[in-house]
Amino acid sequence: MTGTTIADAEIIYEELPTKLVHMKFKTKDGEVIIASTRPELLCACKAVIVNPKDVRYTDLIGTKVTVPISNQEVEIQAHHSAQIEFGSGAVMVCSYGDHNDVALFRELDLEEVIAIGQDGRLTEAAGAYAGLKPKQARTKIIEDLESKGFVEKIEEISHRTPVSERSRAPIEIIPMEEFYLKQKGSVEKMRELGSQIKFYPKMHQQILMNWLDSIKIDWPISRRRYYGTEIPIWYCKKCSEPYLPEPGEYYQPWYLECPAEKCPKCGFTEFVGEERTFDTWMDSSVSPLFITKFKKDEEFFKRTYPTAVRPQAKDIVRTWLYYTLLRCENLTGKKPWSEAWIMGYGLDEKGMKMSKSKGNALDPLPIIEKFGADTFRFWSASEVNHGNDFRCSEQKIESTKKFLTKLWNVSRFLSSFPIVESADLADTDKWIISELDKLVKDCKVGFDEYNFFIPAIAIREFTWNIFAAQYIEMAKARAYGIEFSEAERDGAIYTLHKVLSTLLKLLAPITPYITDFLWQTLYSDKSIHTEQQTKAESNEDLTQHTQAISDFNSKVWNEKKEKGLHLPDSIKIEIPKELEIFKKDLVAMHHLEI
Ligand SMILES: [Zn+2]
Repeated sequence: MTGTTIADAEIIYEELPTKLVHMKFKTKDGEVIIASTRPELLCACKAVIVNPKDVRYTDLIGTKVTVPISNQEVEIQAHHSAQIEFGSGAVMVCSYGDHNDVALFRELDLEEVIAIGQDGRLTEAAGAYAGLKPKQARTKIIEDLESKGFVEKIEEISHRTPVSERSRAPIEIIPMEEFYLKQKGSVEKMRELGSQIKFYPKMHQQILMNWLDSIKIDWPISRRRYYGTEIPIWYCKKCSEPYLPEPGEYYQPWYLECPAEKCPKCGFTEFVGEERTFDTWMDSSVSPLFITKFKKDEEFFKRTYPTAVRPQAKDIVRTWLYYTLLRCENLTGKKPWSEAWIMGYGLDEKGMKMSKSKGNALDPLPIIEKFGADTFRFWSASEVNHGNDFRCSEQKIESTKKFLTKLWNVSRFLSSFPIVESADLADTDKWIISELDKLVKDCKVGFDEYNFFIPAIAIREFTWNIFAAQYIEMAKARAYGIEFSEAERDGAIYTLHKVLSTLLKLLAPITPYITDFLWQTLYSDKSIHTEQQTKAESNEDLTQHTQAISDFNSKVWNEKKEKGLHLPDSIKIEIPKELEIFKKDLVAMHHLEI
């Protein structure tokens, strides 16, 4: 017990080992076996239910059984929620045992027994077990049940147990007065708004829909936690009338004087401040309203609300995303955004979810310090397709750095060539430009869906394996003007810069620092982030030759290696017919004998 109210959205279920105790309840002429994982709640048992279709109990419906240990007589009632195949098929119904019990108590109109108090311990209602924590009481009552012959058998089972997502403490249902925000009546409306929001990736919309399907109670918004936003209410000490102060200020009623001089109802002058705080999602669910200056600047709000996109991780869809949707709709009648960008979990190296409480979280700051923010960003973009969970390891982040080093080295090489405004292009230049066109199109598809994985992977592949490995090698001799005309040389230099400047712009959203530095060093006095993204051109498509170019170059390099030749040595290899158009560059690149 952590001693506070929590919402369903904060509850997770864990399979925990527990004892399923099969107990003997005395009937008039015999006994009924009832299995339960919570024998400490026997004192709160007010009925036994059996399925109306369960022929074993047809004759017993309406008769009484005696609850072991606490000795109260309760009625056997027929109810469809009793599962024939679970245990003996007969189930004890205890007040506040679980959600199902709460519903059954209301439905069957049973008188409730509060067996667990707000301190998380058993109450006087539990007789000899009063003051014990539920787990201690369970151990003790099982001993007593056994010694008194009430136990038929005990099974060790794994039980789906509700626990707090934050503290992993088991959940107990205890009746308490709390503030609630109505949500049950808005489920349909939220489903409609949720379906209008475009989710990236689409699959994570289902998390919201599943959550909406499972909403059973209104949202409890008050908490008995110390740290939190104070609930701004004072109560009249005499008549308990609540007093709400004027909006616009931050109030701490638990230690500040009530701003009202006297109770508006009875005129009494003493007040007591509310001590509870709000659920944390009460605060964070206003973020779209806060940034659009809701109730502060009408004009600004009109122009900016609804906002465009909510970026967040998938583990808080049912809390942050849902509560924001609910509150913003309540207050404005509109959904807060038109799109939602949902990230997967960062997992540790073994594939376990990272969390502060498990201690397996990787602190990004020292890693950014060590490898640079751009390395970290490029790793994050290129590690996994958007929306999926991804494993984090320092080694993988470090290896990403090699790509940025490659980009740096390519840029340094190109910086030795002047900028050429226009030129006649060789077929080799036209080929790499058509590959560049394809890259620009691929990147646009990714950027349009906020999916940075697509451009990151495509840019890395192009830069490394096509531009640097093939084109630069093929165009190098021409760019230096060795045995080429000035016009031919300019074609190579023009193309080298066209490709690099385009690459920098494509990469700018993913690695903003290195691209801006290189851009301002090579191409402009202004930041790259003021540039328009490159649009795809429709140049002659020569990409069908890419594979043949790569195959031929590898073949020459391998043959030289096998023959013990150095790269500048000449060799006699025939150029395939398909690559005739690139002949001049290939001959110069490989020193081919013709
Ligand atoms: Zn009053």
